[in-house]
Amino acid sequence: MVGDDRVGRFGIGGDARVAVQTMTAGYTHDIDACVAEINRYADAGADIVRVAVPERKDTEALKQIIPQVKVPLVADVHFHFQRALEAVEAGIHKIRLNPGNISDRDQVNKVIDACKERGIPIRIGVNEGSIIERKDKQRRAEELGMYFEGHKSGHLLALMVAKLEEYLDIFHARGFEDIVISAKSMDAQLCIDAYTEIAKRFPYPLHLGVTHAGPKSTGTIRTAVALGTLLANGIGDTIRISYASDHIDEVKDGLEILYCLGLRTRKGVELIACPTCGRIQVDLFSLVKEVERKLDKEITLPIKVAVMGCVVNGPGEAEGADVAVFAGDRRGIIYVQGQRVANVPEEEILPRLLQECKEFEAKVNRGEAKLGEKIVEIVPPDPIGELGSGVDRIRKGLVEKVTVGGQ
Ligand code: SF4
Repeated sequence: MVGDDRVGRFGIGGDARVAVQTMTAGYTHDIDACVAEINRYADAGADIVRVAVPERKDTEALKQIIPQVKVPLVADVHFHFQRALEAVEAGIHKIRLNPGNISDRDQVNKVIDACKERGIPIRIGVNEGSIIERKDKQRRAEELGMYFEGHKSGHLLALMVAKLEEYLDIFHARGFEDIVISAKSMDAQLCIDAYTEIAKRFPYPLHLGVTHAGPKSTGTIRTAVALGTLLANGIGDTIRISYASDHIDEVKDGLEILYCLGLRTRKGVELIACPTCGRIQVDLFSLVKEVERKLDKEITLPIKVAVMGCVVNGPGEAEGADVAVFAGDRRGIIYVQGQRVANVPEEEILPRLLQECKEFEAKVNRGEAKLGEKIVEIVPPDPIGELGSGVDRIRKGLVEKVTVGGQ
């Protein structure tokens, strides 16, 4: 469990929902800015926020920060065990500790005991270097190396598992079980292999992450591949995405991964849009961008909205969406719950679509409509056979009447 009476408490692991985390980018001792940053991430949907505490003034600041934030906080501790003790004293909700970079076992033990006394969980992260030289370390690494030799980075995988075993020994020796573990890598395949192995071997909740994933432009794919694969296989209890960009993106993309896998109920619109092709009949990219921007601000229900470039896939997506538009001959044909409600010129598509989305949301809120429910079944036209490009049919207003195969 993380949290307190004020921010609330929730579980990590077991049946608890997968929690989304991010980390602040500014200095923790810059109190007002730090509080504002944390709450901005909380408002975007972060369940937990981590802060770095490299200096005493950072842990001092926690005393003022913790009472002002909306979500549980994790203190990220490296090298200085005192920072962990100070963070515990300040009321921190969770500690992230890498025993490998604290040189003295007694110091680690002090942190473990302080957390145990106050019921504060610790995330143990695997990293290079270790404080504990276990006697059978070499043999164990060789054993694991053989076991993992078929993997892409078998030796690294072996090292990560061996390190975690070492670290966990320290915690077990103090009778401490309030543990979350992580084994991050910047390599997506290694992440998948490492967490898959760890999930089999250790009975603790897992914090998933692809570390240093790079700029959002490339990090998105790397992260979605690794985290998506693991989560789809039921592995992972909390996630943190690491991009070299605004950390709001980490929160938004983390949530999107959970939405895509059905691990979280979507908040706000689910936007479907076609990639466009040589059949495109409006400026779809500009339209989609504007629709996304406006709906993000104005709609809170998870309405499915489709914006499609032509008649080929438009009706099909309109059939699956709550509100949809598909373009034809510089016009937009708009559907709500499968029912055609408007056929407007291109420049009126955006305002009309927004109006229909708002009205549909209001109807759902009044209990007069349900998400995902259709009033009318759309019969998709046959774009290749008698329909051709679909343009002629749209011009004649016949789109809904066209049936597949001419029946
Ligand atoms: S909906 Fe039409 S314009 Fe968009 S990609 Fe499909 S065929 Fe092309």
